[in-house]
Amino acid sequence: MTLQALRGTTDIYGEAIADWTHIEQSVRASARLYGYDEIRTPILEDSALFLRSIGETSDIVQKEMFRFEDRGGHDMVLRPEGTAAVVRALLQHKMHKQQALNRLFYMGPMFRAERPQAGRYRQFHQCGVEALGSEHPAVDAEVITLCYQLLKNCGVQDLRINITSMGTRQDQQASAEALKARLQPHIDQLCAECQARLAKNVFRSLDCKKEQCRTLAWEGGWPFLLSTESQEHYDAVRRALDAAQIEYNDQEAFARGLDYYTRTVFEVQASGLGAQNVVAAGGRYDHLVEDLGGPAVSAVGFAAGMERILIAAGEHLTTEPQQRHGVFLAVTHAELLEQGIRYVQQLREQGVHAMMDFNVRSLKAQFREADRLRMQYVVVFGERELSEKRIALKDLDQGTQEQIHLNEWVAHITQLAKN
Ligand code: ATP
Ligand code: MG
Repeated sequence: MTLQALRGTTDIYGEAIADWTHIEQSVRASARLYGYDEIRTPILEDSALFLRSIGETSDIVQKEMFRFEDRGGHDMVLRPEGTAAVVRALLQHKMHKQQALNRLFYMGPMFRAERPQAGRYRQFHQCGVEALGSEHPAVDAEVITLCYQLLKNCGVQDLRINITSMGTRQDQQASAEALKARLQPHIDQLCAECQARLAKNVFRSLDCKKEQCRTLAWEGGWPFLLSTESQEHYDAVRRALDAAQIEYNDQEAFARGLDYYTRTVFEVQASGLGAQNVVAAGGRYDHLVEDLGGPAVSAVGFAAGMERILIAAGEHLTTEPQQRHGVFLAVTHAELLEQGIRYVQQLREQGVHAMMDFNVRSLKAQFREADRLRMQYVVVFGERELSEKRIALKDLDQGTQEQIHLNEWVAHITQLAKN
C-alpha cells in the first residue's frame, strides 16, 4: 500500500502555493499597516501552557490536543492555538518590560485532533494578532478593525462581525451562578458532560455539541451580566468601531470555546463556508498573562483560520497570473553541456532566473519546456553557435529574435532580465 498524508492533513503544492503566498503576504501587509510585528514561536510546547490557559474544561484540552510524552517523560503538545504561546514568549523575553503595549502578529500551523470535515482539519493554519498591555477599549476596536481589513485584503467577501461582552472575571462569577441556577432544575435533561460542567465550568454548556443542552443554556437569553464598568467599556468599544466606520452586529448571542476571554469577544462570519462559517474569532483576555505567572497585563487578540480564508475568498483571490521571466538555455549538443552549466551558473550568480535541460532533447521539446516553465527568453546554444560565435536569443513574450556575440550574451541578458 502506498503511504498517504494523514487524514485531516494536506500537502500544499502547485497552483495552491500562489494562493497561500498571496494570503501570507496580505496578512503581513495588513498587520504592518497597524504596526504589528511578527513573532514565530515553536510548534512544540509544554502541555502545562495550554492546560493553564485554554482551560481544563475546554473542548481543546479535553479532546483535541495532540499530547504525548517524549522519551524523557516530558509532557508536551503540538500547539492547538497561538495566543498562549505568544503570552509565554512575552513573559520569557520580558517584552512587557521593554514597552507598555506590545503589538504582535503570527501565522503558522496549529494542531487539533478533531473529526476532519469541510473547513475542519487536524493540521491547519492560523494567522492572528495580539495587543498586549492595554485595556483601552480603542485597542479592542483596533484589533477588530485589523481583523476585518485583513480578511478583506485577503479577498474574503460578505463579512459579518458579531460582537458581545462576557464581562469581567468578577462579573463572570455572578453570571456563572445565575446560569447554574437556570440549569439546575433541568439537570436530568443535560448530557453527562454538561452535568459535570455545572460544577466546574457552566459556560461550556453554551456551546455543547448537544442541541438540547444549548437550548436549555440559552433559554432566557444572553447569560452574561455586565457591571456598570463592563457596560461602559463595551459601549466605548462600539463607539470606537463606529468612529472607524466598521459595521458590526451586537444582537446575536454566541459563545467562544476558550476560558481566558473576558469583556469583549467577537467572531467574523463569511459566506461560502457552509456549516463552518466562522473565519476568525477573538476577544479580550485580562488575566491570561497573570495566570501564566506574569504581572497584570490586559490584552486582546484574534485568530483567523487560513484554510477558511482561502475557501471564503474563492475566486476573489486576486493572484496575478504568473509573468514570464528568466532565461532557458537550450543546449543542442551533449558535448556542450558543461559549457551550458557554466553559463547558467554565471546567470544565477548575477541574480537571473536561469534553467536548462540536461537531456539535450530536440529544440522543439526544449522550447515546449521553456514555455511550460513560463520562461521569458530562450537562448539556443549548439555547435553552429559555437563556431559562429553568436547565439540566438528568443523573446517568448514578444516573439522576437536577435543574434548576440557569444562573449556578450550573458551580460546582455543580465541587463534585460533585471529591467
Ligand atoms: P470552531 O467553532 O469552528 O470549532 P473554534 O472555536 O475552535 O472554531 P478558535 O479556536 O477560536 O475556533 O480558532 C479561530 C479560527 O481558527 C476559527 O474561526 C477557524 O477559522 C480556525 N479553526 C479552528 N479550528 C480549526 C480546524 N480544526 N480546522 C481549520 N480551521 C480551524
Ligand atoms: Mg473548535
